Amino acid sequence: MERESLEMDVVFVGAGPASLSGALHLTRLIEQHNAKGEGKKLDEVQIAVIEKGSSVGAHNLSGAVMDPKGLAELIPDFLAKGAPLESEVKEDHFLYLTKSRAIRSPINPPPLNNHGYYIVSLNRLTAWLGEQCEAAGVNIFPEFPGAEMLYGENDRVVGVRTGDKGIDKEGKPKANFEPGVDLLAKVTVVGEGVRGSLTKKLVQRLGLDAGREPQVYSLGVKELWELPDDRYPAGRVTHTLGFPSDQWTYGGGWIYGMQNRVLNIGYVTGLDYRDPLIDPHAEFQKYKSHPFIAKLLSGGKMIRYGAKAIAAGGWHAMPRMYGDGFLIIGDSAGFLNAARLKGIHSAIKSGMLAAGTIFEALVAGDYSAKTLENFERRVHESWVAPELRRYRNFHAGFRHGRWLGMANAGLQYITGGRAWGILDRDRQEAGHEAMQKLSAYGYHGDNISQRYQDLRFDGQLTFNKVTDVYHAAVAHDEDQPAHLHVLDTNICSTRCAEEYGNPCQRFCPAAVYEMTDNGKGARQLQINFSNCVHCKTCDIMDPYQIINWVTPEGGGGPDYKGM
Ligand code: SF4
Repeated sequence: MERESLEMDVVFVGAGPASLSGALHLTRLIEQHNAKGEGKKLDEVQIAVIEKGSSVGAHNLSGAVMDPKGLAELIPDFLAKGAPLESEVKEDHFLYLTKSRAIRSPINPPPLNNHGYYIVSLNRLTAWLGEQCEAAGVNIFPEFPGAEMLYGENDRVVGVRTGDKGIDKEGKPKANFEPGVDLLAKVTVVGEGVRGSLTKKLVQRLGLDAGREPQVYSLGVKELWELPDDRYPAGRVTHTLGFPSDQWTYGGGWIYGMQNRVLNIGYVTGLDYRDPLIDPHAEFQKYKSHPFIAKLLSGGKMIRYGAKAIAAGGWHAMPRMYGDGFLIIGDSAGFLNAARLKGIHSAIKSGMLAAGTIFEALVAGDYSAKTLENFERRVHESWVAPELRRYRNFHAGFRHGRWLGMANAGLQYITGGRAWGILDRDRQEAGHEAMQKLSAYGYHGDNISQRYQDLRFDGQLTFNKVTDVYHAAVAHDEDQPAHLHVLDTNICSTRCAEEYGNPCQRFCPAAVYEMTDNGKGARQLQINFSNCVHCKTCDIMDPYQIINWVTPEGGGGPDYKGM
């Protein structure tokens, strides 16, 4: 097949805050350099950002309370320039939820002090950053998924191939077929978010995770609600611990007040849970049924839904972030601070640090690992490293249950990051390996649905997955190959059914996986791929690691407007 090749200088994969900040900052560094007139002029450097979503921001989802530190460095006059911020944080609350009570903590855990920060819609913020980039001359290509890395000699990354368009579900070209384009670049910057499909392969191929801990993830499930009155003002931030998570499951909730009586509410479940019956979407629905939350939402209307994995492993789980011809930034590299529930500021900073490194490489005309390794040096010398190092053992502490996890979180705050977690350094278990078999939990036959037996989807306060997915505005052309590749579906109806009860039906927050009758009295896996909200949980949490999430046709997926 003939493919068009486009020569760029720098290609950023994924239009999230890290890539857009990197692209914008790079244009500035080049402009300043050329204006100074010192050294070799950098003429017409072509910078591109490709994005799989239908528009910039369409796939961006986060809590989100943003520490403005990163944005203020990138665009010091972001307020005057009209950055879309929902509200400055005016109140912080922290609650412990028992089954029926909400106990207010007299103190807010220091990592969750949000005064001076902003509640944002990441979708809007990213779209705005995209506009700043375009104004600065960056080429932005929405509906261009990065499908494959392109390699040259000795595994040097030489660019990225975008996904083909117009392939039918049998894999044959349709009338509108358009082959993907080979975008060739001196430096390819991978900023495709959490558990990126290119990052995963790149890390495996080049062994970038050698000597690091396996990344651990959580899944955030979120809804926006319109409230009938001003009962929850814009700028109020509440975090909760406790109900409905059991003490062996990492989890917690958030409630943020946005403008126009919109409430942003969500729940995080650690993707290193033990009970194979856990369903993060059901945990969130249960959360809303708590009397405190149910009262808060009464008379309101759910208007939006979304779900996204979070890379929570922190400092010890970050892969090597450079190599010949490439850098890895933002959530793809794990820049999130899980203790502070914040990653936008560090994603922006990672993009800026990448831009500084690429600028150096452009001046030197050297795009090898020798030059690009300066990215890690820059990270180590910036404020990102001490921040992430301070919380480096945060998530590890929760392997020992909620209370030791909390004690560890407090200790590490006092000790600058030491504490319980350092005793656990030799544990190299990926999150999915923590899931136990049904038999270990005493589940069998008639009690397999017991974890959520009291949960009802009433369509007012609680919603089933299909209703929620409708509110994520997901769209995929159904006549294309499924983008969820299950390498061996025989396992689904045999080993997996018996050992784990097909947990994909539960951990997917969008009802993509379904075990159905095959008409011959046996069970088979059905993949409703058009529901997929691109959260990546299946790629992470499948106990046999036989699910590969790959990019669907460009433009497909959720549309997280205002989320
Ligand atoms: Fe998330 Fe996978 Fe379900 Fe898609 S199929 S919504 S990526 S768990």
